[in-house]
Amino acid sequence: MGIIDTHAHYLEEDFGEDLFPLIESLPSVGVEKLIAVGYDLRSSREEIALAHKYSHVFAAAGIHPENCYALPEDWLESLEEMLGDERICALGEIGFDYHYDNTDKAVQAEVFEKQLLLADKLDLPVIIHSRDACEDTMNMLKKHRPKGVLHCFSGSAETAAEVVRLGMYIGFTGVLTFKNAKKAVAACEAVPIDRLLLETDCPYMAPVPHRGKRCDSSMLQFTAARMAEIKGVSTEEMIDIAKQNAERLFRLNS
Ligand SMILES: [Zn+2]
Repeated sequence: MGIIDTHAHYLEEDFGEDLFPLIESLPSVGVEKLIAVGYDLRSSREEIALAHKYSHVFAAAGIHPENCYALPEDWLESLEEMLGDERICALGEIGFDYHYDNTDKAVQAEVFEKQLLLADKLDLPVIIHSRDACEDTMNMLKKHRPKGVLHCFSGSAETAAEVVRLGMYIGFTGVLTFKNAKKAVAACEAVPIDRLLLETDCPYMAPVPHRGKRCDSSMLQFTAARMAEIKGVSTEEMIDIAKQNAERLFRLNS
């Protein structure tokens, strides 16, 4: 059983002293590969370093919309240089996040769009974050038609179907296991099984029965079991199909 966690944040401030033993232990508990996702220049650099340390860790580098306001002038050049690293499998996470009061939509759009163009130039899949910004995210995806994933999906079944029509994948976290997850379950039902990705978004979003605790990739089996139930396949089949989907999108075998 080889599970792939397509979205994890393993930084020392979240995991402290047990970071390295934890990552080393993951293959022995069924986690075959994981993608360590950056959200600014510093975290992207750290995730790349982690991917150099462990052969089961791959990295994504990008500027998250919450971190797009005080960028150095040469941020795009710095990012492009990082994306040339041999352990990089995606550009991300990038997108729109309108959740906070300090939101400047124009700045977010500029940083998002520059990174979509960079992904196209470098032929990399993108990892998209979208919170409280469904319409603007969909318009941006329709304009640029990137290959990639809409991660930690929180939209409707209709939006999920539209994302799939654009050729993209959809990632679900432990939210799928929550009692009140009707919307996420409906969206998961609407996505063809060959476009589904499993992710933790750890240290956040721990699945039931670990809800509220610090999440790590070993908990992804609970999300996989729930996704399997929704799609009417066995857990082993679901893990295998999601693994093939992740390897295809992120080219983890080449
Ligand atoms: Zn994330």
